[in-house]
Amino acid sequence: MDDVTEQQQLDFATYTANHVDRTNSGACICMLCGTVIKQECNLKRHFVVRHSESCQYFCPFCKRSYKNKHSFSNHMSGRHPEYKGLNLDRYAVRN
Ligand SMILES: [Zn+2]
Ligand SMILES: [Zn+2]
Repeated sequence: MDDVTEQQQLDFATYTANHVDRTNSGACICMLCGTVIKQECNLKRHFVVRHSESCQYFCPFCKRSYKNKHSFSNHMSGRHPEYKGLNLDRYAVRN
């Protein structure tokens, strides 16, 4: 648990390493918002536009962001109880 970090903003390298999955066809899937990016060259733009701002947790089902884990957790258990127990950190925009 290190909630004190000087790295306030998610950087692109961390984003691609932790929050992007690949399909067999080579498309990128943004795990923060569920968007499929077909060409890798568009990934950085997507990151800058959607995830380099100040939201902390992003619900890929509702496309809504939450400022802290507590409110995001409340949202997930209230609106998406079938996803209870999933790793919320997967949807964190910041560390
Ligand atoms: Zn995204
Ligand atoms: Zn939601």
